[in-house]
Amino acid sequence: MRFQPIDQFAAGLPADKRASVYQSTKTTHEKRTKLLFDQFTDPNRLRQLAGEIKQHALENLDTYLPKVEAKLKANGAQVHWASTGEAACQKVLEIMQARGATKMVKSKTMVSEEIELAKFLKPHGIEALETDLGEFIIQIDDDHPSHIVRPIIHKNRREIAQSFEREGLGAYNDDPETITRRARHFLRHKYLAADVGLTGANFVSAESGRIVLVTNEGNSRFCLAATKVHIALIGIEKIVPRDRDLGLLLNLLGRSGTAQDLTVYTEFINGPKSTAQPDGPEEMHVIFLDNGRTDVLASDCREILRCIRCGACLNVCPVYRQASGHAYRSVYPGPVGAVLSPLLMGGKFAQKADLPKASSLCGACHEVCPVNIPIPDLLLRLRNRAKEENVPSPGTPPMGAWALMASQPTAWKAALLGGKLLDYVPTKLIPVPALQAWSAQRALPAWRGGEFRKWMKQRKR
Ligand code: SF4
Repeated sequence: MRFQPIDQFAAGLPADKRASVYQSTKTTHEKRTKLLFDQFTDPNRLRQLAGEIKQHALENLDTYLPKVEAKLKANGAQVHWASTGEAACQKVLEIMQARGATKMVKSKTMVSEEIELAKFLKPHGIEALETDLGEFIIQIDDDHPSHIVRPIIHKNRREIAQSFEREGLGAYNDDPETITRRARHFLRHKYLAADVGLTGANFVSAESGRIVLVTNEGNSRFCLAATKVHIALIGIEKIVPRDRDLGLLLNLLGRSGTAQDLTVYTEFINGPKSTAQPDGPEEMHVIFLDNGRTDVLASDCREILRCIRCGACLNVCPVYRQASGHAYRSVYPGPVGAVLSPLLMGGKFAQKADLPKASSLCGACHEVCPVNIPIPDLLLRLRNRAKEENVPSPGTPPMGAWALMASQPTAWKAALLGGKLLDYVPTKLIPVPALQAWSAQRALPAWRGGEFRKWMKQRKR
């Protein structure tokens, strides 16, 4: 994705798009808060407990990963390990080619987006079709998801109806029910013709080897009902120690992500078809992906691996609400993405080191996170890392000059008066290098200097 500083990206968004992202995220956030506080006496204690469970699992992955491998194998699954995205893509290809398979139906998985699996498979003659409605629309539009839970939050129904018309899925009709029915009709045939069903996993229990999948459309069930081979592509951080931990995590996930008591479809997959379990695919392959996760685990930002991809931090974030997801140039947008995306870049950290700066550090992301990730602290640690690694930071004003001005009342008042000029004179015409560098990276809001002093004076009277 093309580089553009986040606030310039936001300033370039059409007003109606920005308003709909804002409204939709705000509504979900408010419903989530009401639900949690109406139904639980102390939701914050639950968040802390969930965070402790996930943190414990992460810190003991060396014990839990071999344990889960043994359980999965005992359940009849084949287990593979992929250290990079390329290795994971290659493994999927090998499994498919060994069976002469050319058609895959995919349930929504962020990991497959992260490693661009569908793009990798296409030149090999393999169709990897998205079956989640939002992801399907992203795929036919050759677009990118802009929200972890609602990938098409940036699209309106008119745009979707135009895409369906263009793809031959019926004459223009922007009624949501019609759109959904058409997608369903199209996908039903694809499920029946597919060789392989690919899913991710929301959680994997080390105790039982159970893979847990949640969806609101039931598409993952269709992906596994008609196909002979199930491939589950899973980040190594998805392990939870015990089955009983799932009760807490699933309760928090549904409420935090979509303000539901529980996600509509919650599946527990024990393994492939067997005498005890006559339905489902004949083969099950689980590919555990690292792709930079062990480096994150070794860093001082390891808490971010607790993330259960609920999207609550996106919904509450004042920056995400203005900029929406594409501004983050990653499949992981919003506050979680501002931490995770630069970390997953490994040696190319500098390419995304600007993201941790796109935050007001208001702390709202930490307050809503169901696994209690201290996101603002992690953002500060990454800002510090960028400084220590001398990552260029165009547009950062010299703080010494700022401190001098802010500590001298006369200089401050003069700056306030001078600031008004910015409403009338383009910054590029003002020969102050720091101002020009700053405004090259940011959209300048209308000047409102002096408002606070006026307000204070009136208040004293
Ligand atoms: S960081 Fe927390 S709030 Fe954000 S998506 Fe992950 S689990 Fe949800």
